[in-house]
Amino acid sequence: MSNHYDVAVIGLGAMGSAAISFLAARGVRVIGFEAASPAHGLGSSHGDSRLIRLGYFEDPSYVPLLHRAYDNWRTLENQLRETILNITGVLQIGRPESDIVTGTLASCELHNLPHQTFNAAETRKRFPVFGLQDDEIAVLDPNGGWLKPEAAIWGYLRLAAASGAKLHIGDKVEAINPDDNGVNITAGGQKYRAARVIVATGSWISQLVPHLARLANPIRQVVAWYRPENGFVTDPIRMPSFLRDDTKNGTFFGFPEIGPDGVKIGRHAHFMENIDPDHPNPPVNDRDLALLDDFAARHLPGMKGRRVNAVTCRYTMLPGEDFLLDHLPGENRVIVASPCSGHGFKFTSVIGEILADLATQGGTDLPIEAFTFDRLMKAAKAEKPGMTNPV
Ligand SMILES: Cc1cc2nc3c(=O)[nH]c(=O)nc-3n(C[C@H](O)[C@H](O)[C@H](O)COP(=O)(O)OP(=O)(O)OC[C@H]3O[C@@H](n4cnc5c(N)ncnc54)[C@H](O)[C@@H]3O)c2cc1C
Repeated sequence: MSNHYDVAVIGLGAMGSAAISFLAARGVRVIGFEAASPAHGLGSSHGDSRLIRLGYFEDPSYVPLLHRAYDNWRTLENQLRETILNITGVLQIGRPESDIVTGTLASCELHNLPHQTFNAAETRKRFPVFGLQDDEIAVLDPNGGWLKPEAAIWGYLRLAAASGAKLHIGDKVEAINPDDNGVNITAGGQKYRAARVIVATGSWISQLVPHLARLANPIRQVVAWYRPENGFVTDPIRMPSFLRDDTKNGTFFGFPEIGPDGVKIGRHAHFMENIDPDHPNPPVNDRDLALLDDFAARHLPGMKGRRVNAVTCRYTMLPGEDFLLDHLPGENRVIVASPCSGHGFKFTSVIGEILADLATQGGTDLPIEAFTFDRLMKAAKAEKPGMTNPV
């Protein structure tokens, strides 16, 4: 069989699995390469849950993409006849002047999104799992919730295979070399050729895209689970997923009790410690646990001293913490899908569509002007601060 394809997708994690599914559904002759296995433990897309919310505090310009992401998640669920998106609401907690609160309210007002604001006493009464200081407030995004990352990735791959995509699992791409007519791909000692290539290799992205060598930084992330005595208050029917501004330690996120280990929490970008993607994630240490235990004790009182599990995983950060969805500069045969600075999973369903548009039409009608190489370079030069607030 010929080794020539219209499009090759490299990396079948979140972004790559969605892209190949959209491409195959359009009848494109497409091949996908995954070095390990989809949603494996050294990537960035495992761990049972990812937050999704509509009133995006980071920047209201993400909201139109989120509307499309929600539509596409529902389409995926209909195609799979399986639940991927669970609506619990997302509660965003902080002082009235915090970025989380002001940013969420700005997004909601600009895009006319439903939301409710509660003072500390009202929040404690309605959602008793959360301990608020009297000067804190909470904004409920009723459209928020959590996604099942493994089910989404495997679902997209099943659909891609059913539409004729060729999937090479356990096949690492060693090199891509564009020429005037296409791209030569070397994987597992074999040669392949594709008219266009999408590189979606997560924390390994700079190995195939050297332009990103000093820009895409894999960092260590840690999450921990707590099982409270009173499971009544942490049931997803009563406890929304949450984001919380902890003035001294940055932004934390968490989920209700959706698995046997209980409530999961983490700090966005954790300690911003760079890692080598080719090595196992450095193990959980006492400093990690002290940070998360301290947060749980102060803000989730029923969780104090009740940690049952903790693991490390990885984010890949870009300057400014926006995404990168663009052709390689000067090379329109290679499309780069950034790993998204720790907030990309919720967008997977729309990023897959965008990548398919870029590969088949050379552009997209979806709003991605902020996600170009040009903007990334400007953010790097300006050292544009992200939403991270590392200690
Ligand atoms: C702990 C944690 C919590 C998060 N929470 C949220 C959240 O609540 N909400 C949210 O929206 N986002 C969240 N994120 C971010 C989100 O999960 C990531 O942005 C997203 O999953 C990244 O997907 P990806 O496809 O870029 O990378 P991955 O899913 O890691 O996929 C990259 C794939 O490429 C493969 N690969 C690498 N090199 C090669 C090669 N040369 N050849 C072939 N294959 C290769 C890898 O094996 C891997 O499978 C979180 C991330 C983490 C780690």
